[in-house]
Amino acid sequence: MNDAPGMDPAAAAALVERLAQAVGRANVLTDPADVAPALSDWRGFYHGRALALVRPGSTAEVAAVVRACAETGTAVVAQGGNTGMCGGATPTMDGRTIVLSLSRMNRVLALDPLNDTITVEAGCVLATVQQAATAAGRLFPLSLGAEGSCQIGGNLATNAGGVNVLRYGNTRDLALGLEVVLADGSVLGGLRGLRKDNTGYDLKQLFIGSEGTLGVITGAVLKLFPMPRTSVTAFAAVPDPAAAIALLGRLREQVGNRVSAFELISRFSIELVLAHIPGTRDPLPTASPWYVLTNVDDPRTESDLRPALEQALGDAVEAGLVSDAVLAESDAQAQALWRIRESIPDASKVEGLLYRHDISVPTSDIPSFIDEAGARLEAAFPGTRVVCFGHIGDGNLHYNCYVPGRMRDDPVAIAATDVNEVVFRLVHERAGSISAEHGIGQAKVAELPHYKSAVELAVMHRLKAVLDPQGIMNPGKVI
Ligand code: FAD
Ligand code: ZN
Repeated sequence: MNDAPGMDPAAAAALVERLAQAVGRANVLTDPADVAPALSDWRGFYHGRALALVRPGSTAEVAAVVRACAETGTAVVAQGGNTGMCGGATPTMDGRTIVLSLSRMNRVLALDPLNDTITVEAGCVLATVQQAATAAGRLFPLSLGAEGSCQIGGNLATNAGGVNVLRYGNTRDLALGLEVVLADGSVLGGLRGLRKDNTGYDLKQLFIGSEGTLGVITGAVLKLFPMPRTSVTAFAAVPDPAAAIALLGRLREQVGNRVSAFELISRFSIELVLAHIPGTRDPLPTASPWYVLTNVDDPRTESDLRPALEQALGDAVEAGLVSDAVLAESDAQAQALWRIRESIPDASKVEGLLYRHDISVPTSDIPSFIDEAGARLEAAFPGTRVVCFGHIGDGNLHYNCYVPGRMRDDPVAIAATDVNEVVFRLVHERAGSISAEHGIGQAKVAELPHYKSAVELAVMHRLKAVLDPQGIMNPGKVI
């Protein structure tokens, strides 16, 4: 058993025994070797301690575990696929904590094609939800790089985004009903597939994006959509981000709401991929400072999608918004184009310490944000190289940078917040968000108070106090 400072060994042993009664001995892991993977994040940035890794198999078992923790003042860290970006699923070093894994709760409970809903347990891996929808001829549109291992409970708890937000919204927009185990072990049952329900406060919204700090999500009813039957991917060179945004407006006018993804990519991001990811090649013959990768799709097999996209891109070339473009001729070509975009995070790990920012501003402000952030960083840290890419249609940029002299193995450089401050201050001036997708976790918990108003923070603290008066739900995260 991992040691728990502040917890009497006899009390710890009694709690472990009680948890074993609740979920079965085989599902309470205390051997350090078994617990270790749950005590660090996947990047190895954060490390914590826990009394046990507990794996309940049902909502009733989650409730029993949380009740036992509430009665003993033990913290509960819900953990899904542990793919999060901000240390939210890693316990603190306190040790008076259990990690509650949802991975055994991985059943698809129901699929209603006429109501266009799927009901799942929170531990369902995202790809499993997608596959279940596909098998029924429907689309579950949430899609992100971690989809093979992240869980729907984690997606909900972080309100994950991904590349299809432009058309289908983020996880919050895809959730119709939630079931949540509250901090006292009671169950807030809400597995309803209603698109309209105005019977007071929409309580599920509190838990979406709360990163496990208000309750444990155990199940969800999610929206489904018609399956796209025709899909076209295009890669276009644009002179600047303003042209990219103008192009998105034109595409929406000429192709309609069939634009499902629209990603901005800087030349430097492409160069990193070409240099460090084997098997990638430059999609266009001439280099351009910026690119757009877009996807359009249609539920009909016979549609005017391709000619409509060609026409829109041709018009954009004439208008000076696009200098060159390529349309994928096959699924393999489309995948090769998407591989470039999806490889940017891996490719940019190689060249040094990367200060990452996952920010949003109003889409119309993106061009001036990029100019101004670049200028301020250059003034503060001459020679800074920016890896800028992201979901420009959502106003969301992954605005990452290398600062000369800052090394990946230097703890002082890693802990430094001066680069973040330059970027976040500008985000704040533009009424943007310092975390558009990845959340606060423990990574930004100290920074959040600088960028939320006193009233917003006070309301968050009051909600936390009402729903989790003992502060046992994922302490040290978010607030
Ligand atoms: P975890 O990492 O296990 O947990 C994340 C947080 O949610 C923690 O605070 C945890 O306590 C809480 N939590 C987990 N399950 C529950 C539950 N059942 N109830 C209550 N709280 C819970 N994110 C994006 O938004 N867009 C992207 O495009 C994107 N791309 C990614 C690509 C890669 C390669 C990787 C590794 C990650 C990416 N992410 C992206 C990060 C994203 O946040 C996570 O992948 C995912 O949403 C988290 O799910 P998870 O099951 O791994 O949660
Ligand atoms: Zn993203």
